[in-house]
Amino acid sequence: MRLGVLDGRAVVFGGDRAADVATVSRGLLPSDPMALFEDWTRVRDWAAGLPDEAYGLTVDPAALGAPVPRPRQVFAVALNYPPHAAEAGYTPPDEPLVFTKFPTCVTGPRTTVELPPGKVDWEVELVAVIGCETHRVSEDRAWEAVAGLTVGQDLSERVSQLQGKPAQFSLGKSFPGFGPTGPVLVTPDEFEDPDDLEITGLLNGETVQHDRTKSMIFPVPELIARLSAVVPLLPGDLVFTGTPAGVGNRMNPPRYLTAADELVSRIEGIGELRQHFTAAHP
Ligand code: ZN
Repeated sequence: MRLGVLDGRAVVFGGDRAADVATVSRGLLPSDPMALFEDWTRVRDWAAGLPDEAYGLTVDPAALGAPVPRPRQVFAVALNYPPHAAEAGYTPPDEPLVFTKFPTCVTGPRTTVELPPGKVDWEVELVAVIGCETHRVSEDRAWEAVAGLTVGQDLSERVSQLQGKPAQFSLGKSFPGFGPTGPVLVTPDEFEDPDDLEITGLLNGETVQHDRTKSMIFPVPELIARLSAVVPLLPGDLVFTGTPAGVGNRMNPPRYLTAADELVSRIEGIGELRQHFTAAHP
């Protein structure tokens, strides 16, 4: 199943057309996507039985919002791809390095982001969305806790991210608009192998990041098991799973986002995000 949010209402996709969840279910299911995550199995069972003619809406991609507009918790993981750990000057970590993107930064797939003062960088990431309350789940059952996968862009202002000793990441990654997600949420069963997806970041059409998610040091099930060993995960929570090599601050010379740039973040089988930027208002 592919779930999107169109003009604020939950829709499911059949090819390039969509069905409005609340309308087509005659009100049995809510239009608020956050409410759907509270009974995700029911949503999936309902969508599996939809006839082709239920998909009556044509979709303007520009009208799609974040598939999870108001997550209660947003986890993010640093240095989860060996080449990115190496370019950042670290040995691969033994434990996941976890920080948060405060939830107000979450936006949809096509946005214009105001650049705050400092050095704003890109990080394309696979995002796992939690589908049920999950505490102390084992790694071999962790995929059952995942509602689906989406694309995320972990925009990062490097000056505030790395300020202080020890540095604290979360504020520099939480400016308004710093968490683009989408364009849709795709359930794990839709992938031949949800642990091995091509992931690509493009700056002005040029590939700057490219890897496969199987390169992760801590794959999705291990991240979920380790996070849930401490924190109860809630329906609709997001887990940004780390970025491949090729971020701007490790380029020579370093390269940061400007108002002239277009950033595209793409994952096989899900789709792409597209961000433009404006200079900060003084
Ligand atoms: Zn990141």
